[in-house]
Parts: sequence; C-alpha cells; structure tokens
Amino acid sequence: MRATVKERLDAARAEVARLEREAALASCAEAGHTWESLGGAHCGCEDGHCSVPVLTCTRCGGCDYGENAEAAETRRQCQERAAP
Ligand SMILES: [Zn+2]
Ligand SMILES: [Zn+2]
Repeated sequence: MRATVKERLDAARAEVARLEREAALASCAEAGHTWESLGGAHCGCEDGHCSVPVLTCTRCGGCDYGENAEAAETRRQCQERAAP
C-alpha cells in the first residue's frame, strides 16, 4: 500500500521534529544549556521563607529542578543560619 501525500508529510514532519530535538540536545551538550527562569522552588530548609530559582533550557526544554549555583548558595546560607 502506498502512503498518501499527507502520510508522507506527517512522517517527514515527525522526522524533522526528532532531528531538531536531537540537534538541540547535541548543542546543549556541547555549549551548555541556555537557562531561563521557570520560577522558584522552596529551598527545603526549616525557615520556609526562602526560595531557590528553578531554570529551564530554552533550547532542549530541560529543567535543572533547582540544581544551580544560585540555589547552592542559597542553601549554604540557610545552613549557616540554622547552625548554632
Ligand atoms: Zn538544553
Ligand atoms: Zn532556606
């Protein structure tokens, strides 16, 4: 059975989308992610007032789930505050 033009077009589009994702992932692996703020998350300390930034990559759509330098610094300061 021959695929219709629409089916071939859909298949080609799916392939392009797959390749674009692959290219984005490859460029992120090479040059690093292009982070952009997604919002904030609670830092996890007892204080309850501070938040750490959560970043998302504009290219591959990846998320750091609050694992970044600024979050690490915030958590360090929280620990210092909590220390007796
Ligand atoms: Zn990325
Ligand atoms: Zn905190």
